[in-house]
Amino acid sequence: MLNGSPNPVDVFVAGGGPAGLAAAIAARRHGLSVVLADGAVPPIDKSCGEGLMPDGVEALHQLGIMIPRGEAYPFRGIRFVSDGTQAEAAFPRGPAYGIRRTHLHRIMVNHAAASGVHLLWQTPVTGLHPEGALVAGELVRARWVVGADGASSRVRAWAKLDRHEPDATSDATLNAPQNSPQNAPQNKNLRFGFRRHYRVTPWTDFMELHWGRHCQVYVTPVSHEEVCVALVSSNPQMRLGQRILGQRMEDALGEFPELLTRLKEAEPASSERGAITVTRRFRRVYRGRTVLVGDASGGVDAITGEGLCLAFRQAALLGESLASGDLARYQESHRRLMRRPALMARMMLFMAQHPHLRRRTMRVFQSSPRSFAGMLAMHVGAGSTRDHIASGIALGWDLLKA
Ligand SMILES: Cc1cc2nc3c(=O)[nH]c(=O)nc-3n(C[C@H](O)[C@H](O)[C@H](O)COP(=O)(O)OP(=O)(O)OC[C@H]3O[C@@H](n4cnc5c(N)ncnc54)[C@H](O)[C@@H]3O)c2cc1C
Repeated sequence: MLNGSPNPVDVFVAGGGPAGLAAAIAARRHGLSVVLADGAVPPIDKSCGEGLMPDGVEALHQLGIMIPRGEAYPFRGIRFVSDGTQAEAAFPRGPAYGIRRTHLHRIMVNHAAASGVHLLWQTPVTGLHPEGALVAGELVRARWVVGADGASSRVRAWAKLDRHEPDATSDATLNAPQNSPQNAPQNKNLRFGFRRHYRVTPWTDFMELHWGRHCQVYVTPVSHEEVCVALVSSNPQMRLGQRILGQRMEDALGEFPELLTRLKEAEPASSERGAITVTRRFRRVYRGRTVLVGDASGGVDAITGEGLCLAFRQAALLGESLASGDLARYQESHRRLMRRPALMARMMLFMAQHPHLRRRTMRVFQSSPRSFAGMLAMHVGAGSTRDHIASGIALGWDLLKA
């Protein structure tokens, strides 16, 4: 069953999504032997807005991964569209990419295989063991076990790492089977994301974020003839008893007439796929030999488009810490890495929940493009803390005057 994989091994990775593959690659870069197992079959798809921000592209480069021409669609900035107003800014350095999850997965799998990661697909991890992990019922002895099994991580629960920071969501909520909106119980902090691809020539080289009354829709160009449309909502009216259906794409687009006009003739190029999203931090990301990375280790709301970047950055730091055996250092850096995206998530959700403030902010962004550019720079981690403070003060002042 384990296909002649090395046993014992230095690092065993549970989960072969972007975070698990990145962690495996990072560990190999430090000369460690690595086995990775995932219950699914590649290329693995997932509900995602498919925007890889410039800091995410950079983090991927640092792992030695370049995105080949033709696999992704570059975009140069972000445009907010809300209540009849628009504001846009280019990234201070770029580019960013729209990339189909299946393409990103294939690129990362090939890179992992070429760097010597032993990959096991259709092989679920079934438990932890004092000497490693149980994989399809067999023991893989490992010095380190990396939990990269996504937002509903079972590795996290097995390692008793489920205690989260006070501002976050109950984990019982997130341990619903398959991380699916249909299976998640009620929780006010939880949001639901759906994505669908449409066959249409991108009308812009910006990623667009459309703000609606009950949801946000973002559109990422992913090729010369396709866009990815992702909807994120916490619409309480969609809750039916204990089951939550979320707000579905076709119903939601009615709220965005200009988007509907662009998409109404376009053929859907994929079926709708859903997932939950939430911003939360855990008190600890390791215990003994088990350590978490990516969504398993906490995460930020999908609206930020920063999940992949965080995963890649965490993976690079984890590789160093596994090599030196210092997981306390990883925990420390992990906490630091989460700060900026978590702050951006809070700010964006505040805008989502307060339409009056959003309208004011949009007026400021429209009349003062430097405010929006400053916020975008902070979002993608460009510029110094001093620049961000100056932008924050300028935005606050403009808002007071608006
Ligand atoms: C609607 C939506 C839109 C988003 N848009 C963006 C965006 O535009 N840009 C961005 O950067 N981020 C975005 N994100 C966030 C991004 O998708 C996640 O941060 C990213 O997928 C995290 O990767 P991961 O590898 O940690 O988890 P996952 O991608 O969930 O991978 C986990 C893997 O673990 C495997 N697994 C689970 N359990 C087991 C088990 N027991 N044994 C073996 N394998 C197992 C699964 O099969 C899966 O392959 C979005 C998220 C949502 C929900």
